[in-house]
Amino acid sequence: MPEQYRALQGFKDILPEEQPYWRFIENTASEIASLYGYQRIETPLLEETSVFRRTSGEGTDIVEHEMYSFDDRADKEGRRQNISLRPEGTASVVRAYLEHGMFKMAQPVKLYYMSMPMFRRERPQAGRLREHHQFGCEALGESDPAIDAELIGMLYQIYTNLGLKNIRVNVNSIGDHNCRPQYIEKLKAYYEPLLAECCNDCQTRFSKNPLRLLDCKNPQDQAKIAAAPRITDNLCEPCQEHFDTVKRYLAFYDVPFEIDTLIVRGLDYYTRTVFEFTSEIDKVALNGGGRYDGMAEIFGGPHTPGIGFGVGIERVILELKRQGIVPPQRRNRAPLWPTLGRARK
Ligand SMILES: [Zn+2]
Ligand SMILES: [Zn+2]
Repeated sequence: MPEQYRALQGFKDILPEEQPYWRFIENTASEIASLYGYQRIETPLLEETSVFRRTSGEGTDIVEHEMYSFDDRADKEGRRQNISLRPEGTASVVRAYLEHGMFKMAQPVKLYYMSMPMFRRERPQAGRLREHHQFGCEALGESDPAIDAELIGMLYQIYTNLGLKNIRVNVNSIGDHNCRPQYIEKLKAYYEPLLAECCNDCQTRFSKNPLRLLDCKNPQDQAKIAAAPRITDNLCEPCQEHFDTVKRYLAFYDVPFEIDTLIVRGLDYYTRTVFEFTSEIDKVALNGGGRYDGMAEIFGGPHTPGIGFGVGIERVILELKRQGIVPPQRRNRAPLWPTLGRARK
């Protein structure tokens, strides 16, 4: 067989038979997001690398190995910029919010993006995509816990309106700059005598990113995780109150949720509410999200609380298929050339 071009490893064509799934998700999600007052935004595929480096955390996998970054051609002055294909949506949206002075508008500013391609140089193991597409929502400029619950409730509504069953909502609070440092000290003190028996990854996490110790999936460390001090027992009063209110509103919105104290976000600008949606059927995470009250300041902007999530469309399509959900047929449209059709009769 002669050699043929194929799509790059980890990249996929979206063929006509897949399109109904995409339209179904796009229509359902954007309709519901609009009802909740979210407005669509699109940001460029390429950004200065530091936009992502600062928000994904220097030294993390995504920055060190998984970004498509390169030096652009030199400009007239001979300067080269290092630019990257976007690996996620939040950093670009926050950058745009600041650049366009949206902090001067009535807050919160609620934005959503739809089917934006994201790129990560994932190891080409089974099914991992290097280009995938996300739908995401970001609510900026509001710290009220009501918005956390509203956002989580909205996403739950999107999944259920798609017809998905057995969706589980897990929430946690990871505190703030006030209470988290003490918690991390507690966690490290607990782990220190156990460290010799921990997996290699945990040894690194201990010094680099201790919260991530709770993320370890290695069987040998599960008992240690189960007995570790919990962040929810170590929240300061305002964080506790915020978390309690989120839970109260979630119950009010009829969102079935559970507390999972192992959901963490390892980066400093994440605060308080973090959450994860999983499918009960395969116990796989559908998507995650959280509050990132410290992010705008990392960009040199004014203090701007924010919360959001990103949902991988390919991941949702997989789940729709797994649950046997077929996108509804589109209603028959008027023929493109009605007069022609009539003339032939
Ligand atoms: Zn481990
Ligand atoms: Zn706190």
